Amino acid sequence: MTHAADIISSPRLLLGPGPSMVHPRVLRAMATPPVGHMDPQFFAIMDETQALLRQLFQTTNRLTFTLPGTGSAGMEAALLNFLEAGDSALICVAGFFAERMVEIAGRATTDVRRVDAPWGQPIRPEQVEEALRARPAKIVAIVHGETSTGVRQPLADIADIAHRYGALLLVDTVASLGGVDLPVDQTGIDICYTGSQKCLSVPPGLAPITVGPRAEEVLRARKTKVQTWYLDLTLIQKYWGTDRAYHHTGPINMQYAMLEALRMVADEGLLARFERHAAAAQMLWDGLEALGLKLFVPVENRLATLTTVLVPEGADDVAIRRQLLLDYNIEIAAGLGQYKGKLWRVGLMGYSARPENVATLLGVLARLLPR
Ligand SMILES: *Cc1c(COP(=O)(O)O)cnc(C)c1O
Repeated sequence: MTHAADIISSPRLLLGPGPSMVHPRVLRAMATPPVGHMDPQFFAIMDETQALLRQLFQTTNRLTFTLPGTGSAGMEAALLNFLEAGDSALICVAGFFAERMVEIAGRATTDVRRVDAPWGQPIRPEQVEEALRARPAKIVAIVHGETSTGVRQPLADIADIAHRYGALLLVDTVASLGGVDLPVDQTGIDICYTGSQKCLSVPPGLAPITVGPRAEEVLRARKTKVQTWYLDLTLIQKYWGTDRAYHHTGPINMQYAMLEALRMVADEGLLARFERHAAAAQMLWDGLEALGLKLFVPVENRLATLTTVLVPEGADDVAIRRQLLLDYNIEIAAGLGQYKGKLWRVGLMGYSARPENVATLLGVLARLLPR
């Protein structure tokens, strides 16, 4: 017979781009017996979750809740709910996850345009302005923390430009929300989603999303039905809102985990949380440079929650990552796409973003790297 403890024989230090480590408080919350998804006790959990999500997103948006599914479900909902056939979407592409946005948007409309920046650099506001001046778009979509490159994308100017040209601004914060400051309302973001398993340190399976009043209006004015029934925000709002109309069975124990994690975010305080992530990242950056490694992104555009570092000359990418994982139980990630074999990606997200974890990784790397 297999016991639960045998499912995983070696717990890992999760320092990749997600999932991040889960705090024991959150794991304990998940072990709470499920109630029904129409139980008043569960409705109270949903209400508290919504209030705490608004604090996390720094928004007053009515339409704020979690979607069932990982970050990509958030991406799919964000794009498909606001795009109808023939609508124009402008996607800002500077990495792997923005490419996924292009792929999903293209399933809703044939009019998908893109502006590109080289991997490792942010999109420049002038690029967005030039594209919109040539022809307006209904949506401008962009990734805030690009996990494939480790770039933090500045958004204030791009938000102004998008609005000046009548577009909604859609932002992916899967790898950044809860780790890096991004006030949704103050920045002018119309549609924003994230994922449970990165900076919130909940296991994978939920995608928080928030939709502002301008975007809600666009949703109401749709002429055709949203192409996805499961992620149709109007239908899901009827369950999260006062109607409490059954749509799908809520992932009850995942919601327990989300609520407990959001309470922990509130207890810590957003500012303290951002400072903790920044301090862990700074410690990592200093330590990697002290080992003679080169960071991929210039400091002004660096994402605290995910660091990209060049695999040094003479080091075997695959062998070192295998040793980290199998001999030391530490997970970091490889480069993606054109940077496969050239970069390592180190995540310091949520409960993983602690100095003892950084010290452990640096100590082991010092042993494994060629002298
Ligand atoms: C991880 C990630 C996603 C996709 O999330 P999944 O949970 O893997 O579906 C999307 N965007 C960014 C920026 C990510 O880091």
